Amino acid sequence: MQFRTRAIHVGSEPDAGTGAVVPPIHVASTYVQPGPGEWGEFDYARSGNPTRKNLERTLASLEGGCGALAFASGMAAVHCVTMLLRSGEHVVAGTDIYGGTYRLLHQVIDRAGIQVSLACSQDLDQLAAAIRPTSRLLWIETPGNPRMSITDLRACAELAARHGLLLGVDNTFATPALTRPLELGADIVMHSATKYLGGHSDVLGGALVVRDPKLLDRLYFLQNATGATLGPFDAFLVSRGLKTLALRVVEQSRSAQQIAEFLDADSRVAQVLYPGLPQHPGHRLALRQMNGQGGAMLSFTVPGDLARTRRVVQNTRLFRLAVSLGAVESLIEQPAAMSHASYAAADRAAHGISDNLIRLSVGLEDVHDLCEDLDRALDA
Ligand SMILES: *Cc1c(COP(=O)(O)O)cnc(C)c1O
Repeated sequence: MQFRTRAIHVGSEPDAGTGAVVPPIHVASTYVQPGPGEWGEFDYARSGNPTRKNLERTLASLEGGCGALAFASGMAAVHCVTMLLRSGEHVVAGTDIYGGTYRLLHQVIDRAGIQVSLACSQDLDQLAAAIRPTSRLLWIETPGNPRMSITDLRACAELAARHGLLLGVDNTFATPALTRPLELGADIVMHSATKYLGGHSDVLGGALVVRDPKLLDRLYFLQNATGATLGPFDAFLVSRGLKTLALRVVEQSRSAQQIAEFLDADSRVAQVLYPGLPQHPGHRLALRQMNGQGGAMLSFTVPGDLARTRRVVQNTRLFRLAVSLGAVESLIEQPAAMSHASYAAADRAAHGISDNLIRLSVGLEDVHDLCEDLDRALDA
């Protein structure tokens, strides 16, 4: 079955008892056992829930993994990966990573004695130089947030394999509709399901997908032992979102391309960061690695002071001023003050997250309305 067919049919088989075309939401927290010490498929909802399991089956199928785990949030999923490491071990992460991941690496797991180095993941030599004998995990986000940098996942997988590291990829921005990191050699794919997978700004969730059953077992153990599982109602919402994932992402990506071209031609805009534009340093790689698309996220800078940037982000009407991304409604934000506020100021400067950088999440509205909205805000 092709991707779009699997998105609709895997994990959404009709209910055996009633014939309902959509499986019911299972709310039970506990399950009757055949006898004391005897276990059925489900026993307690933290350890397993049929609604969550359906979602996990869909996700495993879409990412091409042996299994998936659904978490209460994207951060819970990242945290679970970091729990694979012991004190004294080391993580190498790309510089363009989600602010919350940066914070987890620098202000939470450092307390457990895990060391972290950031390196520019577009430069394989830099990445390789950051690897230590204690390195255990390479963590990559592509397109990178918020500068839309593109990292070569196949090359990263080779580097990780050479040094005996696990390669974890935060695939939240590309989604499996555009990029399937496991097929390129990654060991772990992570999602904030809050974004494109859910797709409607109405659920918080996360996921891990892996291709090695032993790694799945270990992560399952850690998830069950620490407890940040996704609830059944939220699992249902993500499952519903997945059915339209490919349609949404491809259409939103098409709009983002048009908006990027519109902004690029506009003298009120200094620079547009979008992988679908030919001048983007990752353009050719993006076309290859992202199914010919640039994705639905883009950033741009406006000349002038901070006040001008603030005026732009505060004067759109359709683009709502909010963090998050990936839903049907378009959002606008200022990374330095919002999504990446938890970065140290020096790291923000070093990584090109300037105060006049503006990030867009392009939704499903009519693209002409969206361009008109930006046009008006740029005049503010
Ligand atoms: C939102 C996001 C996360 C964190 O996910 P939550 O669901 O908010 O916990 C991680 N990575 C990326 C790229 C994100 O956009």
